[in-house]
Amino acid sequence: MEKIKLFDKCFRPYIPYERLSEAIDRVAAQINADFKDADDVPVLLCILNGSVMFTSELMKRLEFPLELVSMKLTSYSGTVSTGDVHRVLGPTADLRGRRVIVVEDIVDTGNTIVALRDYMKEVGARGMKICTMLLKPDIYKKDVQLDYVGLEIPPAFIVGFGLDYNGIGRNSKDIYVLDESAE
Ligand code: 5GP
Repeated sequence: MEKIKLFDKCFRPYIPYERLSEAIDRVAAQINADFKDADDVPVLLCILNGSVMFTSELMKRLEFPLELVSMKLTSYSGTVSTGDVHRVLGPTADLRGRRVIVVEDIVDTGNTIVALRDYMKEVGARGMKICTMLLKPDIYKKDVQLDYVGLEIPPAFIVGFGLDYNGIGRNSKDIYVLDESAE
């Protein structure tokens, strides 16, 4: 794997796809154990756009009937979280009375997760589980429980596997980290 350049910034290889794939196997096994005997149809809620790649990998591994629903939220501008979470699209189905498994690409400050928890209450979802591919534990200090976590990472800015820098870089299969030494 080699360094990549996205607009003005340089990124170096960080987490290869193979490690992500193993983590997804583990998380999927946990979700299957919790939901395999469900007598409802749980919602798998893909948080656009960052979770698209993770959601598609995860849902291939889930072995119970589920409904895929999407919703778009924004909070990031460039490499910085603005703290203000806006719902800009969806959800694409009514969540009232449903059990929802939220699929997030990464939990950083947790502002998005808190906004989602409040939103689920507001629309009357029956329950919410959080599944995130990545977590920055040094930054996340909110009280919302993260039920399924793929990998923990230090507080750095990453791209790839669905995550972007100003809109690009999402299509990389591996994850890259901002290379500060190249600034
Ligand atoms: P939070 O609300 O937890 O601060 O951030 C959640 C959202 O910010 C994530 O869903 C993701 O879109 C974006 N985000 C957080 N950390 C990173 C990062 O390191 N790289 C990228 N590309 N996006 C991030």
